[in-house]
Amino acid sequence: MPAKIRVSVVGAGITGLSAALRLLEEDTEGRLEVTIVARDFPAPAETLFIDPSAHINYTSPWAGAHNRWVLWVADGSEAAAAAERDHSFALDTFRHMQTTHARFPEAGITFLPGIEYLEKPGPEYTQLKDLSVQKRLHLHDKDLDLGFRVLDPSASDRLPAGVTWGCTYRTWCVNPMVYCSFLLRRFVSAGGRVLKKDLRTPHELLPVSDIVVNCSGHGFGDDPSIFITRGQTCLVRNTCDATVTRQNADGSWSFSVPRGFDGGTIIGGTKEPDNWDTKPLLSTRETLLANFAATYPQVLESKGGKFDVLADVVGRRPTRRGGMRLEVESAAAAGEKAKKPVVHAYGVGGRGYEISWGVAGAVAKLVYQNIGEPSVKARL
Ligand SMILES: Cc1cc2nc3c(=O)[nH]c(=O)nc-3n(C[C@H](O)[C@H](O)[C@H](O)COP(=O)(O)OP(=O)(O)OC[C@H]3O[C@@H](n4cnc5c(N)ncnc54)[C@H](O)[C@@H]3O)c2cc1C
Repeated sequence: MPAKIRVSVVGAGITGLSAALRLLEEDTEGRLEVTIVARDFPAPAETLFIDPSAHINYTSPWAGAHNRWVLWVADGSEAAAAAERDHSFALDTFRHMQTTHARFPEAGITFLPGIEYLEKPGPEYTQLKDLSVQKRLHLHDKDLDLGFRVLDPSASDRLPAGVTWGCTYRTWCVNPMVYCSFLLRRFVSAGGRVLKKDLRTPHELLPVSDIVVNCSGHGFGDDPSIFITRGQTCLVRNTCDATVTRQNADGSWSFSVPRGFDGGTIIGGTKEPDNWDTKPLLSTRETLLANFAATYPQVLESKGGKFDVLADVVGRRPTRRGGMRLEVESAAAAGEKAKKPVVHAYGVGGRGYEISWGVAGAVAKLVYQNIGEPSVKARL
């Protein structure tokens, strides 16, 4: 029997877990031996809240996490091409969430209405008045069953004060640590291995691997395009019947993400580039809660007209100028001449969950291309 091809995946956040599981799922002939090597692994949210700043560089626990469609204007630019690619990743992920939810109700996925409100919509939103644009973006694909609709205040739709445009569609939220633990369990039960280790560089794994996949979130400090975007949110016990996102004219955001599975509801949130502060600010919490209640007062109903605060949350979105790094590098271990492939998949910013299964498919395609095998089922 030929020796197995050894794949080491660095990272057990949403990116590494999805990539590692997808690699095994596409390995129908059992040729790969896949190992996840990471400093941090999924754990119940309740234990992470004991000392949250100890896990601040592990972003996945601190996400909402919901799916919303991030739009763009097709102007032929590089940014538009990257946005289009990410949209196809998000569509792939949506389909995956649907089938996973149907097959594994315990996976931590909830489908619910998504509502978006904008005070000052840009052309990427106003272009949606044209039905052909909605169709080009797959918002009416039958299998997705989104029920996508631009809100019409002249009919029965009510927009909150200050909002001039809105839309609604069916979408998904996950309870992050329930979903990540589910992925890890699926990975191990499919034959995957796990190793806890703090690495200085992904190249450390080259001597024991045929190929390395770098899903380290923030990278290893050698990529000048990486920066963090701090997010402060507040986890409340209130339930919410929709995931609601409001973009204000001053660039600030207000949103709810019901986590499901007894995980409460995230009320957010800030987006602060290069802010390394680990401590939540009480004044920010008060602003976030007041703003969201003004937009969607229904959120207070389940707790007698008040918010019932469970915890403040601070996370660092692993952001990268120009978009995530998704490419193959040829590298040698220290003191070695022979080079091996390293697939980089990090810097997913604020969309790690939304695009996770699509990114995993792209990683699988790069791995199969670089081990001299035709991609079995991998597709971009
Ligand atoms: C407040 C907030 C709200 C968010 N809401 C959403 C949302 O609604 N939807 C959405 O899609 N996204 C959301 N995000 C973004 C999302 O959380 C991230 O995009 C995602 O978690 C990044 O996952 P990752 O696996 O790439 O990185 P991480 O989760 O950071 O995982 C990195 C992994 O690499 C390992 N690692 C790193 N360095 C080393 C090393 N030196 N040695 C060994 N292992 C290492 C870590 O231990 C970890 O296992 C939100 C983020 C924040 C902060």
